[in-house]
Amino acid sequence: MSEQTQTPGRTARQVVVVGAGMAGVQTAVALREQGFTGGVTLIGAEPHQPYDRPPLSKAVLLGKAEGSAFDIDFDALGIELRLGREVLGVRPEDHELDTAEGPVPYGVLVVATGAEPVRLPGAEGVPGVHLLRTLDDAERLRPVLARQHDVVVVGAGWIGAEFATAAREAGCAVTVVEAADRPLAGALPAEVAAPMAGWYADGGVTLRTHARVRHVESGAVVLDDGSRVPAGAVVVGIGARPATAWLEGSGIELGCHREVVADDRLRTSVPDVYAVGDCASFPSGRYGERLLIHHWDNALQGPRTVAADIIGETPVAYDPVPYFWSEQFGRFVQYAGHHEAADATVWRGDPAGAAWTVCWLRENRLVALLAVGRPRDLAQGRRLVEAGTPMDAALLADPSRPLKTATL
Ligand SMILES: Cc1cc2nc3c(=O)[nH]c(=O)nc-3n(C[C@H](O)[C@H](O)[C@H](O)COP(=O)(O)OP(=O)(O)OC[C@H]3O[C@@H](n4cnc5c(N)ncnc54)[C@H](O)[C@@H]3O)c2cc1C
Repeated sequence: MSEQTQTPGRTARQVVVVGAGMAGVQTAVALREQGFTGGVTLIGAEPHQPYDRPPLSKAVLLGKAEGSAFDIDFDALGIELRLGREVLGVRPEDHELDTAEGPVPYGVLVVATGAEPVRLPGAEGVPGVHLLRTLDDAERLRPVLARQHDVVVVGAGWIGAEFATAAREAGCAVTVVEAADRPLAGALPAEVAAPMAGWYADGGVTLRTHARVRHVESGAVVLDDGSRVPAGAVVVGIGARPATAWLEGSGIELGCHREVVADDRLRTSVPDVYAVGDCASFPSGRYGERLLIHHWDNALQGPRTVAADIIGETPVAYDPVPYFWSEQFGRFVQYAGHHEAADATVWRGDPAGAAWTVCWLRENRLVALLAVGRPRDLAQGRRLVEAGTPMDAALLADPSRPLKTATL
């Protein structure tokens, strides 16, 4: 990426944030919290008051919560909201965005357009096929659950598992079909995903691995081996990719996943343009590689760096310990760190049991951990990952011992 100059300042110019999800909202709020007095405009394609996504696959889906709108008084903060407006393009040379309502000038632009779900080829437009990314998606799915259909979930990832959990709770018969040999194949090593496969059966869900979808037809999902799985409804959860089509041709560098390539202060390759949240990757000094994170905590933390940089605070590199959680099959799963960097694995507790933790070490230092029903392990481990404290693997393996005392 080329060296560039941003023109910062506490009063500076008009900041326009595109994308009114977690990262966009948090950027606007962080600017005010950090004392920015210039104009802040938040533009979002969805018509709804900005809302939080994690409850969509949990309480909102089951009707236990009506919605998940952020409890933020945008007017009081002097944040101008323009909702139901899709930004179609950006011309950095003119410092202007293109929308159907006409051009919008910006002084500083923050790209926070998140991600959109990957669609199942051939299933588009087939009645009864759903995605789960937006509030509208969740609202469409609520009556589907209420009808207690046979539901087929395509993809045993985080969203697939959470949706399957909710559908079972609503009384549906649920089959999850997964092309790989195990759940979460792209996210976790086989030995860690293996015990999770058993959770599906415990939860009354049929999990079919090595099951690639050939096509979807009305009332059934047809697999590559010719078998037909009855489906009153199909939910596709096969991943998400950055929502950056509107940046094509703008000169803003995109990476191999079509994400915005940002630097360690979340600046893009173009002056006065930042990118944050699910749509952007950044270089992790901690892990020595570029990270593209599709989790809530990254959309909370990144905006603070963006706001500080716009204001012109002393530059601090964005270098988080990634964190996320998932609620599935009655279990609370939490993960912190980045295990790809590890050279050793230590288990705390029996993965066949209800609560266990797996720790990943590199040169005796904790680089990541996944905790199932052990939030204290996660809280303590997250701090140890941040600090890079050397650990004693033998002590760490004792689940009765507080994780924070297993240091060398
Ligand atoms: C159902 C579900 C459950 C989840 N559960 C968890 C969880 O339990 N734990 C966890 O850690 N993470 C979870 N996540 C992930 C987490 O919600 C995301 O990482 C987070 O929402 C990312 O925030 P974002 O603002 O970057 O993107 P988004 O939330 O995707 O927001 C981007 C916004 O930009 C808008 N937009 C896109 N293009 C344009 C355009 N051209 N013009 C104007 N607006 C545009 C979109 O409409 C969208 O509203 C979940 C995600 C989903 C979908």
